[in-house]
Amino acid sequence: MQEYTLFLGCIIPARFPFMEKSTRLVLSQLGCILHDLEGATCCPTKSIVKPIGDLAWYVTAARNLALAQKTGHNLLVPCNGCYSTLKSVEVEMRVNPGIRDEVNAILASAGLEYTGTVEVKHLVEVLHDEIGLPKIKQHLIKSFDGMRIAPHYGCHMLRPSSSITFDDPNKPKKFDALIEALGAKSIDYETKMLCCGGNLNTADEPEEATALARIKLMEVTKKADAIALTCPSCFMQYDSRQYMMQKTGEKLNVPVLFYPELLGLAMGLSAQELGMDMHRIDLAEFLSKWDSKYKYLKTLKEVFDLSAIRKCYECAACVNDCPVVKVNPDFNPNEIIGRLLSGELEAVTGSHNIWQCVDCYTCYELCPQKMGMNKIFDKLKHMAIEKGMGPKGFAASIEMFRKDGRLGEPTSMRKKLKLAEPPKSGGEELKKLLDHINNKGEENEI
Ligand code: SF4
Ligand code: SF4
Ligand code: SF4
Repeated sequence: MQEYTLFLGCIIPARFPFMEKSTRLVLSQLGCILHDLEGATCCPTKSIVKPIGDLAWYVTAARNLALAQKTGHNLLVPCNGCYSTLKSVEVEMRVNPGIRDEVNAILASAGLEYTGTVEVKHLVEVLHDEIGLPKIKQHLIKSFDGMRIAPHYGCHMLRPSSSITFDDPNKPKKFDALIEALGAKSIDYETKMLCCGGNLNTADEPEEATALARIKLMEVTKKADAIALTCPSCFMQYDSRQYMMQKTGEKLNVPVLFYPELLGLAMGLSAQELGMDMHRIDLAEFLSKWDSKYKYLKTLKEVFDLSAIRKCYECAACVNDCPVVKVNPDFNPNEIIGRLLSGELEAVTGSHNIWQCVDCYTCYELCPQKMGMNKIFDKLKHMAIEKGMGPKGFAASIEMFRKDGRLGEPTSMRKKLKLAEPPKSGGEELKKLLDHINNKGEENEI
């Protein structure tokens, strides 16, 4: 069982207590014990306290670290700003004896000392590196399959890389992996690493702060169902500021989710329990889309191997080798698979296009994973037949097969060629066997 001391900073308890609630709930379900940090102060926020003087900044942070050291557990930090400050000071105190001695001399007057025996960990680092994706997946009840989430790392989760090393500062992967562990697609997007602009508010530049937030929101609104993040300052930019923009008529409708909320929902906790009704940007549409996607994909999973068809959809490598694609620009097997994944099973099974796959196995033989799009079309055709749909000629052939066990009767041409009578048909016996299958309600498939 993992134990940590929780450092919440100033913004979470004061403005977004639902972030504390979701963090505590999910970590407790994952078997972590969290201790509070009595006597903690502001981390301190670099943009406000560092200009007062470097020493004030070091002493304030080192005092928090010294208090944490007394608890004997590493500090777990769910706020990017606090994490960046505390981690920078932790590392500086370790590698720079001059600063360590100067700071500890001041701390001594409060009976405190930081010797570096506890470390500062970001929530994402703990979830990814210490709790681990397999354990998170074990706790999932309702996945985010089919939902597209835009990860916002936020600068201070990863920078400065002179102190923060748990992920790449320019091309990070761990937060994406945590989102994908919940079944969602973590999208790659142009403004992924763009700063939220929150600190521009401190510089009395609200217009510029809005402009930076707008750039990312405009891209995300076109490409994803929501933004996920782990920083209250970034949340303020994308949720509260977006709300202000909305009030002036600029409606972008981008739901903003604190990662433990997303995780909590996937673990089966309700949005209400997680306090998500305290967001400024309404989440109702996101939650209802998630619910209907979940139900749809659950039905789809009963028939298809979802992860295989998703891989096939993203691959699309053999599409142009399909002989039907070469002659019919309206037949796009990849698009049909995409529609199937996005919720159009009814429309796809009812469409004539699925019958254009001639089952030539070209895709199967070219496929490095021996997936083959024909397998998907086989199942779709089967579902269509079960619903009494399909091309007329196809339906007539099925009828003949069911009745006679053959798809044609010998004609007089055989006599002309002096061929003997063909062997007697076993159609009657086959019909009984097929009736047996139908009566048992078993799948008419090999
Ligand atoms: S994105 Fe903005 S608020 Fe978030 S961590 Fe970076 S500067 Fe701070
Ligand atoms: S059948 Fe194989 S090669 Fe073709 S698109 Fe699907 S996964 Fe790719
Ligand atoms: S099996 Fe179907 S989808 Fe695959 S190449 Fe042949 S016609 Fe195209």
